[in-house]
Amino acid sequence: MRDLNAFPRVSLGVFPTPVHKLENISRALGTNVYVKRDDLTGLGLGGNKVRKLEFLLADAKQKGAGIVFTTGGAQSNHAMLTAAAANRLGMTPILILKKRGVTAVRGNLLLESIMGTDVRFVDTDDYAQIYAEMDRVGAVLGKSYYKIPCGGSNALGTLGYVACAQEIALQGMRFDHLVCAEGSGGTMAGLALGAKLFLPGTKVHGMMVDTEPFERITPRLMREAAAMLEAEVTITDDDFTLRDVCGDGYAIPSEAGNAAVRMMAEREGLFLDPVYTGKAFGGLVAMAREGAFKKDDNVLFLHSGGAGGLFAIE
Ligand SMILES: *Cc1c(COP(=O)(O)O)cnc(C)c1O
Repeated sequence: MRDLNAFPRVSLGVFPTPVHKLENISRALGTNVYVKRDDLTGLGLGGNKVRKLEFLLADAKQKGAGIVFTTGGAQSNHAMLTAAAANRLGMTPILILKKRGVTAVRGNLLLESIMGTDVRFVDTDDYAQIYAEMDRVGAVLGKSYYKIPCGGSNALGTLGYVACAQEIALQGMRFDHLVCAEGSGGTMAGLALGAKLFLPGTKVHGMMVDTEPFERITPRLMREAAAMLEAEVTITDDDFTLRDVCGDGYAIPSEAGNAAVRMMAEREGLFLDPVYTGKAFGGLVAMAREGAFKKDDNVLFLHSGGAGGLFAIE
């Protein structure tokens, strides 16, 4: 297997992110709950996309890109962090966003406006059309450009969360369960592959906050990332579990998600967001109440960020 450190990578964040116990939540749920603070990755307002961008933007730089395109919903944390990272590396970010979500200059759109980011909206949900629009704009501007897919979730971006699993292993604690949100798939796929490689005995649970076919997306990204790493592993459906916590739809707050946001805020003084981490933590709470965790189990929750979106709730 290739060494993760052998891949081109730019330094954007502050790692390792802390892991600590949530004492009050642990007492309430009757198991040992820990949090991996990827809301503190150190760029923008933190969040999981920083780890992916360290690999993706190294590739963009190596290919000599002057412009970096990406896409997502109007309040995409990924798009905001891509803009912040590209600026820092001297590349020009252009965000081609869908009108899905809050389009007023609030939340992540406010942060993009502060950074002076070139934000354009397209009235489609079809990614093929959005990537074609990137090619059109890129050709007009006549500079070399690099396209990052929605959420940074291709095999290269997924390596960011394989690296996170390695980081967790090096932090020295053993976890029986690892729980994260799944929105475009790279985070979950990276953690599930990384757990197979570096965290034997840790079960990985993806909390689906969108309605994409994650039962196919997750193993596909795991296989593609494993191939890049030349890791000799066989990916099976037993490598992870998935749970639907989407509710009425992506980016539509749910009752269980909002209750989880309040629980974390009231008991631990940590803020989750209603789109990803709140729904994901709601899934962890539901699993605990269903008896999925034993009293002595160590359960690690990935806090993947999302602060920007917290200020764009209608
Ligand atoms: C993008 C995002 C996720 C989901 O990660 P994916 O790799 O897209 O599945 C989770 N939490 C937050 C805050 C995010 O912005």
